[in-house]
Amino acid sequence: MQKRRKPSWQIRIAKERIKKLLKLAKEKNESRYISLAKKIGMRYNVRLSKKIKRKLCKKCDTLLIPGKTCSIRLDSKNKCIIIKCKKCNSIYRYPYKRK
Ligand SMILES: [Zn+2]
Repeated sequence: MQKRRKPSWQIRIAKERIKKLLKLAKEKNESRYISLAKKIGMRYNVRLSKKIKRKLCKKCDTLLIPGKTCSIRLDSKNKCIIIKCKKCNSIYRYPYKRK
């Protein structure tokens, strides 16, 4: 059985709300806006874009701001970016491609 999808207008509104919440989270530096955005995304089957996901800590929902809430290091040996959340000490690795 297929999953029931919400009507498109609802998804559109959900996306807008997520956008606003992420903006608020950035301005006020509060993780509760992010968990709220995630909840809305789950309810309406709206996925956060890859770009946004990389800016969020999966563990504590903190917006990862370089030098502020996270530290970024480049690992040239393994060609990846190492992002460390300062709040919960989670470490994320993302590969990068050199041009
Ligand atoms: Zn974290």
